[in-house]
Amino acid sequence: MSWTVGAASDVGQIRRANEDSYLVRDPLYVVADGMGGHNAGDVASSTAVAAIAKPEQPTRDDVERLVKEANAAVWEKAQSDRSLQGMGTTVTALFLDGSHGLIAHVGDSRAYLFRQGQLRQLTRDHTLVARMVQEGRISEEEARHHPQRNVITRALGVDADIRVDVESVEFQAGDRVLLCSDGLTSMVEPSVIAETLASEGEPQSAADRLVEAANAAGGEDNITVIVLDLDGASRQSGGSRTPTDPRHHELGPDKARRRYRRVVIPLIVLIALAGLGLGGLRFFLARSWFVAPDQTGTVTIFRGIPEEIAGVSLRTPQKQTDLSVADLPEFLRADVEEARKFDSLAEAEAYVANLSERADEFGVPEEIKNTP
Ligand code: MG
Repeated sequence: MSWTVGAASDVGQIRRANEDSYLVRDPLYVVADGMGGHNAGDVASSTAVAAIAKPEQPTRDDVERLVKEANAAVWEKAQSDRSLQGMGTTVTALFLDGSHGLIAHVGDSRAYLFRQGQLRQLTRDHTLVARMVQEGRISEEEARHHPQRNVITRALGVDADIRVDVESVEFQAGDRVLLCSDGLTSMVEPSVIAETLASEGEPQSAADRLVEAANAAGGEDNITVIVLDLDGASRQSGGSRTPTDPRHHELGPDKARRRYRRVVIPLIVLIALAGLGLGGLRFFLARSWFVAPDQTGTVTIFRGIPEEIAGVSLRTPQKQTDLSVADLPEFLRADVEEARKFDSLAEAEAYVANLSERADEFGVPEEIKNTP
């Protein structure tokens, strides 16, 4: 049994740089979709792919560990360089051994199986809308057009540790497998993806057509597609060459544009949170912090955002302080009740320390301050 591969990656119609990265090197096939200000998204996805591509001859048992090492590599890079802080990337990795497949996955890049005319998603997105579908709040169709459809709940590089979804798949002759970034799935309906996979003989031409379809639909994001055929396909097959090197695509830097993005993106986040919603926006709940009172009135550092989206709470308490909001002087209390937001835990902690000091200055008795 052998696999034939085609791959394509494109910047799309709107973005100035391609921050997707991919790997096509038997037995590993990877799509990574990076994000972050400046060129951080590009650094994140290429760092992850390079870490996964490290072993010359990886085995099935290596796959989950390699994704975790990729997470550590992106995380460490983000910690060591201020301009890269907050970057992250999705990873969908497929390991092939004959007809056996192993998929390791974090984020919202996807793996699909196209078998006998049916398209089936093999990965579950780590997104807010996927959770809402699971909870029965919205339909699959509503999720596809939801203003917050790009909000990711799990990504590489955001934390020192990562939970990786790993799934085993048994393929059959004639199967076609698709790996792709959300630049495809956010622009092209599943029925059109299925039609394209059905009508294009070569994996390479299928990959090219899918990228064209995403661009024709607006190309709002970078688009990366890998198509793999297991021999025995009824389609015409053969002639497609397998690239042997990790591929990574990026356009030349456009400094003015990047400066613009760096300033504008936080504003866009606020607008989207206000419910207006903008396609193509991505941010991590995992890298947002805020300080607010918890249910008992204790000043608490939360991870996530104070807003609810469609009734779903997006906060997890991270650290309770020894401050009670009732014991703060009025002007500080108002500040805390407004739920002040931070980009890092360190900043939230610094704010709480400052709060504590100012509470002291304004005469909150020590015995009250230290009451848990
Ligand atoms: Mg994307």
